[in-house]
Amino acid sequence: MMSTELTDEKKTSSVVLNCPFCVIDERTTVIVENKELVYITLSNPRLVRGHLLIVPKRHIEKLAELSREERDALWDTVVEYQERIVSTVSTGCDIRQNYHPFQRQGRIKVDHLHIHLIPREFKDKIYQITQVYETELFKDLDEEEKRSVPLLFRKG
Ligand SMILES: [Zn+2]
Repeated sequence: MMSTELTDEKKTSSVVLNCPFCVIDERTTVIVENKELVYITLSNPRLVRGHLLIVPKRHIEKLAELSREERDALWDTVVEYQERIVSTVSTGCDIRQNYHPFQRQGRIKVDHLHIHLIPREFKDKIYQITQVYETELFKDLDEEEKRSVPLLFRKG
């Protein structure tokens, strides 16, 4: 059998058959650790050596859909593995979660929620190829933005 579901006793109707994080292809997937509510896998494809994904077992697409238990399990695991990365793999580590409903699922975009842990070093390849251009995007807030943007986030 070339695919497996890690959801065992916590299995619910949430398994999505065309989702690579629900139905795991054992030829391409390396599981680092399988916990009760989340698993840790090597990102494949990956950006840099040691690039990990923390994946809740239940198929959800947004952080807001996590149960309290899953939220705790996910963030505890993120904290735990960031420490492991910075003590064994690299000096720094990025944490990234992309919610891109405007993008279709494909080889480098999976709808199933996951958190990236990306080992980082000073002026590494990620910096040289992409982040160096980010500096051009940074702008100081102007007065209008300081006034109007916080209003977008006020409740009711
Ligand atoms: Zn899924």
